[in-house]
Amino acid sequence: MNDYDSGRIAALLDQLHYSPAAEPGEADLILLTTCSVRQKAADKIYSELGRLNKLKMRNPRIIIGVGGCLAQHEPDHLLKQFPCIDLLYGTGALARLPGLLQAAALGKRPVDVEMDDGHTMYGRLPRAAVDSSQTSALVTVMQGCNNYCTYCIVPYVRGPEWSRPPDDILEETVRLLAQGVRDITLLGQNVNSYGKNLSVPCSFAGLLGRLNALDGLERLRFITSHPRDLTDELIACFGTLDTLCEHIHLPVQSGSDRILRAMNRRYTAAAFEELIVKLRAVRPDISITSDIIVGFPGESDDDFIQTRNLIARTGFDDLFIFHYTDRQGTRACSLPDKISYNIKIQRLRELNTLQRDISRQRNEALVGRTLEVLFEGPSSRGNDTLAGRTRSNKVVNCPAPRDLAGSNARVIIRAAGIHSLTGTLA
Ligand code: SAH
Ligand code: SF4
Repeated sequence: MNDYDSGRIAALLDQLHYSPAAEPGEADLILLTTCSVRQKAADKIYSELGRLNKLKMRNPRIIIGVGGCLAQHEPDHLLKQFPCIDLLYGTGALARLPGLLQAAALGKRPVDVEMDDGHTMYGRLPRAAVDSSQTSALVTVMQGCNNYCTYCIVPYVRGPEWSRPPDDILEETVRLLAQGVRDITLLGQNVNSYGKNLSVPCSFAGLLGRLNALDGLERLRFITSHPRDLTDELIACFGTLDTLCEHIHLPVQSGSDRILRAMNRRYTAAAFEELIVKLRAVRPDISITSDIIVGFPGESDDDFIQTRNLIARTGFDDLFIFHYTDRQGTRACSLPDKISYNIKIQRLRELNTLQRDISRQRNEALVGRTLEVLFEGPSSRGNDTLAGRTRSNKVVNCPAPRDLAGSNARVIIRAAGIHSLTGTLA
């Protein structure tokens, strides 16, 4: 979502006659789009701002702005800690950037963390530019979250849920397709809630159906859906919509019902596993990825073993495993029985080792199959190799002529690693 927001900001700056600088030292303006969902993301921004403090001392004329979730969450702390910051803008303030930039240029150090009219924000921003070689693009369809999982900062920094009208999303997608994009990923903190607050309600499955009918669209994806709201209507789409790719990211977070309850996830491990069965019944070759948090407050050895067992039973294609960190203002932050850093890291490593074996096995099962690969560009493996993705979102490296970049090809999978496949043109 920050990638998407940065694209819309870049388009706005282009309208204001800014042009990209080759490196930060040559810039007149530097804007950071920040994330605060985990401590690591916040720490990266603190380090970057430390570097920018020094740059600003050497060149006091640079204007430095901080936007996104961290700016929304802790504006006072950032302003106090980092004298280099000239302006702060929250997640709902992007369309007001021109005025904020003017105020910053006058040395006023403006701060705008208002979210009231966030739902009309994208309608007031120019469309992001598309590279001539770009095959895929992101489109935000809804923002915010009403779920209040007890560990999560998102409802506080992205605000309550709101959806963009379907016509606005369709228009943006048609424009992307006309510019050569063929792979669209729809974004939202909880896409299954899409449409609930629209004046003419439209379900997420309904939106997918409308997009599926667009000329030129080859691949449609979405992130992220919450297991509790994954409806049968949406699951059925994987069997009926030909552009909808056979991949779903469905974060489970834990395999222990006790921890899921403490997280306020409002489903059980068994209910999650039933969803997996339904998805595989509709689309047997679907690739399923997920998120796990280890070391949530009070997570016992037994809770952890239940998570490990769920992972072993489910056979995810890939997992993003995080160790729990406190986010100020969330309910989990004030829970007792915090887990020590060492135990959290030990649990994280154990699950990573388990998942690496599972990912390798899932990938090895594809060796010998012929898959459709959309080549994105040159591979890091060398000059005569292209990298692309299967519909199930697996990276494939394949020796191929350069002019195939941007096209679809049939590729025979010859070898499998943990994170990628290697193939030859069929
Ligand atoms: N909306 C998505 C998740 C968005 S946040 C969903 O509900 O599934 C992305 C991931 O960050 C989460 O799935 C979770 O695994 C992780 N995460 C969020 N808050 C965290 C915290 N306080 N500590 C560790 N991981 C966290
Ligand atoms: Fe955070 Fe996702 Fe839960 Fe919303 S549904 S509170 S974004 S983890």
